[in-house]
Amino acid sequence: MIKVLRLGHRRGRDDRISTHVGLTARQWGADEIIYSGEKDTNILESQRDIIDRWGGDIQIRYTEEWKKEIKEFEGLKVHLTMYGEKINEKIEALEEKFEDRDLLVIVGAEKVPSWVYRNVDYNISVGNQPHSEIAALAVFMDRIQEGEIKEDFQDAEIRVRPSEDRKLTEETG
Ligand code: SAM
Repeated sequence: MIKVLRLGHRRGRDDRISTHVGLTARQWGADEIIYSGEKDTNILESQRDIIDRWGGDIQIRYTEEWKKEIKEFEGLKVHLTMYGEKINEKIEALEEKFEDRDLLVIVGAEKVPSWVYRNVDYNISVGNQPHSEIAALAVFMDRIQEGEIKEDFQDAEIRVRPSEDRKLTEETG
């Protein structure tokens, strides 16, 4: 089971990025996405709307209590940060631990409180340069699952028929 915790959402400023964090988590097979920071019902609703049409059963919720979320998670806790240990040097150890444990992946927005760095099992970087939580999450999820991209989403109303020359969507309902 994989949960993704998005810290520090800022209404307005982070809308698209936070939505894309959720979509990325879903595409790579996360079971739950938890938003924290400023409460934003629009983000939750737009995610649910996408899931209604495109399928899947990822759970989406908001919490004010992000510390509790981290403290009480029973499993492997990984915080993605440009300051962390290099993913290439840790991926084997992480894969081994993920085999029989649940995984919590944490991504930030603005500056992440130092408490997070001290209360996770691993601080992991995808390159030690600043980039984006969406990119970091996608690369991490891809590596930890050995490149497995989720293809089937149950109860989808729309589905893409892969095509050489143009995008065709198939209404399944
Ligand atoms: N100073 C931040 C940091 O600690 O990585 C950069 C802020 S960045 C706009 C927002 C989020 O993107 C970070 O909290 C982190 O989760 C993710 N991120 C950015 N660059 C990263 C990198 N090189 N490796 C892993 N995660 C990264």
